[in-house]
Amino acid sequence: MRFCSLGSGSAGNSFVVQDDKTTLLIDCGFGLNETVTRLDRYDIKPDELNAILLTHEHEDHIKGAFSFSNKYKVPIHLSHGTFKMCKKRINDNYDINFNIINGSKPFMIDDIKVTPIPVPHDAREPFQFMFESNFKTIAIITDLGFITKHLIKTLKEINALVIEFNHDKNMLINSDYPQSLKDRVSGMYGHLENMESIKLLKSINYKSIKWIAAAHLSEKNNDKKLVKRLIADATLKENESIKVIDQMNGIDWLNI
Ligand SMILES: [Zn+2]
Ligand SMILES: [Zn+2]
Repeated sequence: MRFCSLGSGSAGNSFVVQDDKTTLLIDCGFGLNETVTRLDRYDIKPDELNAILLTHEHEDHIKGAFSFSNKYKVPIHLSHGTFKMCKKRINDNYDINFNIINGSKPFMIDDIKVTPIPVPHDAREPFQFMFESNFKTIAIITDLGFITKHLIKTLKEINALVIEFNHDKNMLINSDYPQSLKDRVSGMYGHLENMESIKLLKSINYKSIKWIAAAHLSEKNNDKKLVKRLIADATLKENESIKVIDQMNGIDWLNI
């Protein structure tokens, strides 16, 4: 199995998980044409995708999803809550194959086992996902306000981890964001601050993880070098197994 990202941050998120036979797009937060352009960087043709999974209804995760799915006939998997919240975004004349995710029960897309993980976030019914193929597992976890016990239990033994490092607490407090936005981002249903993400890493078996990729960094209230250093200090991992996903350039293929 391998992973890449088309980009991650508040201006759009999209990730790819691929095994020998199957290619999945997780979130589609860039516009239709932008998504096609970015997929091309990794030699992925749009109609090659087997499915799109949506984590929740926020714009930075769904922007191009429905026009893309309609045009290239790629089925979408999403929760009932996400579907409901997106309804007004879906043109009546679109022909889309929707698959509603049933609670937090694992399901198969070809040979990839997908485990939905509920997370605390200000969306209707948000899920993040863990993927398993050929005895390897990767989890992609963004958009959550805090680390839950369920998350720690689910991620105990994984081979690769994409984890939100949204902001540095003090940078956010001292930023020029309006107070309401500061409260939203740092709240229980907002985004992970760096030390909360570190808490997750320390709570799971990080020694067996091949690589860790930080995602959804705030452009204003975080710093790539700081995030890398925090992960290195907490896990004592080599530099090449610590990655930060870029908003513009995403990240190139990483094997799991
Ligand atoms: Zn987001
Ligand atoms: Zn969100």
